[in-house]
Amino acid sequence: MTIPTLTRDTIEANTSGGSYERGQEYFADGAVRSLKRTDDHTLKAQVQGSDVHPYLVTIKFSEDDISTVQCTCPYHGGSWCKHIVAVLLKTLAVDEVPLDESAEVSDLVHELNRRELVRLLERLVEQDPDLLDEIRDEHARLTRD
Ligand SMILES: [Zn+2]
Repeated sequence: MTIPTLTRDTIEANTSGGSYERGQEYFADGAVRSLKRTDDHTLKAQVQGSDVHPYLVTIKFSEDDISTVQCTCPYHGGSWCKHIVAVLLKTLAVDEVPLDESAEVSDLVHELNRRELVRLLERLVEQDPDLLDEIRDEHARLTRD
């Protein structure tokens, strides 16, 4: 994976107050999950922190530089948080960031009708009961307004 100007030095230069060191620890502990490319210029990853739910990191880059970084954590230090550091270190460490597979999922379920989709969800929840919480959260989010 190549973002030409991205090096450990540039990551460190964008952090303050120990975020770089803590990001290194997160990366070393394997806290970065599901690093994916959603298109040619966007990376997304989940970082498991102290909270039950992982933080979501989004990094956008142009031909040769990082344009924006975002994290859902409450850190507002004006510089990059440890989660962003961990994701960028992982990005440096891997050859290739896989393209997001959600496009494939939408292709797969495209042909299913509502009843089939419900059965599919029920079966997935049977296999992984934790999914029910995620479905509840998503349902609450979608029906909020
Ligand atoms: Zn963060």
